[in-house]
Amino acid sequence: MIEVSGLTKSYGAIQALTDVSFTVAKGQIVGFLGANGAGKTTTMDIICGCIGADHGIAKIAGFDITEAPIEAKRCLGYLPEVPPIHNEMRVDDYIKFAAELHQVPKSLINNRIDQTIQKLALGEVRHRIIGNLSKGYRQRVGLAQAIVHEPKVLVLDEPTEGLDPNQIAQIRGLIRGLAGEHTIILSSHILSEVQNTCDHVIIIHKGRIIEQGTYDEIAERLQTGHLYRLRVAKDAPTLARSLSELNSLSGIKAQSNGSETIEFSVSSSADESVLDEVAKRTVGGGHGLRELSLKMKSLEEVFFQLTK
Ligand code: ATP
Repeated sequence: MIEVSGLTKSYGAIQALTDVSFTVAKGQIVGFLGANGAGKTTTMDIICGCIGADHGIAKIAGFDITEAPIEAKRCLGYLPEVPPIHNEMRVDDYIKFAAELHQVPKSLINNRIDQTIQKLALGEVRHRIIGNLSKGYRQRVGLAQAIVHEPKVLVLDEPTEGLDPNQIAQIRGLIRGLAGEHTIILSSHILSEVQNTCDHVIIIHKGRIIEQGTYDEIAERLQTGHLYRLRVAKDAPTLARSLSELNSLSGIKAQSNGSETIEFSVSSSADESVLDEVAKRTVGGGHGLRELSLKMKSLEEVFFQLTK
């Protein structure tokens, strides 16, 4: 639904993007993750036809954003980093204005306004002046202009930036609710945002895509060894000493404060049958095996590993 190929963009001497390529399939909700200045806004502005790339192609629903901008933009809803709202307008008047700009047929406009207001829970404030609303409500109004024409693709640039924790949870919930109907790409520098809201992640660093896939795929690829968690009934420290005799285990850490747990890594080249020996020593030593599980790296660990 979104195809980006070989995007390159510089602002004078600043190389903002270098050969950025990715695709977003129909129905996916993708997190575009990167630190400040990584190139997220530049990519989104190019995808949405707000600025041009030096090289490369961006297509929305098969339409090239530079060659067929009207067709591409008809399939597109964009919430830029600074929402394009008019503070002096009332909420429903502004949504109507956005619907007219998106050329929603006249006969459908009133219906679309009501549906949009309902989807984004704006009923309480529909007759209020936008500039008097809280930032969370203003962000919802920004979302309203992006979805009122029912686009196939939604591009959201840092949609929860500057909101308080309650407002963040509400906007995340709304975005997840929109995911069934739209293909969504949202940018963020907040790892938990991407981990909680998106099923795919694209990581951009210094203008280049350095990883993409599901979070589990990326974490799996970056495991230098596999990290396991072992929970036992008693005396984890003694068991940890016994496990340290096994050559393919490293980084053994025991905890014995309420919960008896041991964490250890098995090098990727090692035979997994070493886990049989771990289980044997646990049960044979009378420690009681309660859990043996593979622990994935958190997205935070993955991100730091990739961008350090
Ligand atoms: P942030 O999260 O801080 O918005 P970002 O990932 O969206 O960052 P961009 O805004 O795309 O990153 O910026 C990428 C690079 O291009 C940065 O080095 C930025 O300073 C530079 N840049 C962006 N817009 C311009 C501009 N209009 N003129 C000059 N440099 C720019």
